[in-house]
Amino acid sequence: MSLHGDYDPDNIFAKILRGEIPCAKVYEDDICLSFMDAFPQSNGHTLVIPKAVTARNFLELPTDMIGPYMQRVQMIAKGVTKALSPDGVIITQFNGSAAGQTVFHLHFHIIPRQSGESLGFHAAGEMADMTELKALAEQINAAL
Ligand code: AMP
Repeated sequence: MSLHGDYDPDNIFAKILRGEIPCAKVYEDDICLSFMDAFPQSNGHTLVIPKAVTARNFLELPTDMIGPYMQRVQMIAKGVTKALSPDGVIITQFNGSAAGQTVFHLHFHIIPRQSGESLGFHAAGEMADMTELKALAEQINAAL
């Protein structure tokens, strides 16, 4: 899907926001929902999505939402690092399929990295075990 176009209200993250599809929730408030990536690139791969917007990507996020949303991204990244003690952490997002985006509701990835461990493929492979994801989500939530 291109960088420009209409927001699809039936994208998978919109369904998660409406509670139509389950997720391993890390945190939620009026600004964001954070949950574990179901196809994690590393142990603890967490997503943060803005609520109450129809932004397909970062370019479409209303300017007045940038501050509150990025505060949540940083807060959750701190929780991930406190909970899992990685050697490093990737904080990133993709805009448009040409850039690697596969779900068209804005989200930031928080991907803990351990030295010497290879990074898993992006949005690929087997779906992770939901029980394990929920345990990780609780561990990160407790560190917020
Ligand atoms: P992107 O390719 O940047 O749009 O990232 C989308 C992310 O959503 C990928 O890392 C996928 O593994 C992840 N993903 C896809 N479906 C689900 C789902 N049902 N629950 C949680 N994460 C998902």
